[in-house]
Amino acid sequence: MKNKFYIGCHLSSSGGYTGMARDALSIGANVFQYFTRNPRGGAAKEMDPADVAEYIEIAKKNDFGPPLAHASYTINPCSKDLRVREFALETMADDMERLQLVPGAMYNFHPGSHVGQGVDDGITLICGVLNAILKPEHKTLVLLETMSGKGSEVGSRFEELARIIDGVELKDKMGVCMDTCHMSDAGYDIIGDLDGVLDEFNQIVGLYRLKAMHVNDSKNPPASHKDRHEKLGEGTLGIELLSSVINHPKLCHLPFYLETPNELDGYAAEIALLKNLRKQECG
Ligand code: FE
Ligand code: FE
Ligand code: ZN
Repeated sequence: MKNKFYIGCHLSSSGGYTGMARDALSIGANVFQYFTRNPRGGAAKEMDPADVAEYIEIAKKNDFGPPLAHASYTINPCSKDLRVREFALETMADDMERLQLVPGAMYNFHPGSHVGQGVDDGITLICGVLNAILKPEHKTLVLLETMSGKGSEVGSRFEELARIIDGVELKDKMGVCMDTCHMSDAGYDIIGDLDGVLDEFNQIVGLYRLKAMHVNDSKNPPASHKDRHEKLGEGTLGIELLSSVINHPKLCHLPFYLETPNELDGYAAEIALLKNLRKQECG
């Protein structure tokens, strides 16, 4: 079974959708991720229909994969503070409305930090936000990112992701984005037993929910709960593992997004490296 290799990275959205599409082409990417707004929070730029239309042209012509919109990581849907939760809810609801204009987009977010309330309450609050923002007419899939378990982060265990999805009414709108750095930092032995970790995910969440993969090396050893991304091959995961990830028969159909500490030229080099490592039989 042949799959197209969808590979790209996180890009600055300052040039709009057209700017991101052009940047992607210039570095050999056919997918990209971007922040829906300034990561420090605040207002999102107005959607420019002409910009989106031009992006759609470029994406069609070059057979791009799904654009991955990343929510600001300053939002916390399971904060102790009601106003912080309301801000997360309003921000996410607004992001979802904007993304209605972007065909095939997916929306990735960090489930949040329970800040001492405990995982159970955290999950209840996250489900509350998701149930408030998701509408039947939404075309965008919402992805929970697998987290490293830094501080009181929810979502570093597959069980927690499964419980969040379980508490969402419109389950068909939900998916998962794995992050290689986060999973290793969380204590999943992807280095020694990638197959075993995928089997575990399949049993607990279901591989059919897996829609995207963040490909990052990690500055820290397994189970460190740190979340510091490293350039490919320069961290504790190593290029051999990252090559197995992009070539794994259960993963190779996914779009892959780099979030390594790089500028465009560094991303271009990593994308070229992964294209070289991509096996023929994966397509
Ligand atoms: Fe993330
Ligand atoms: Fe990530
Ligand atoms: Zn991270």
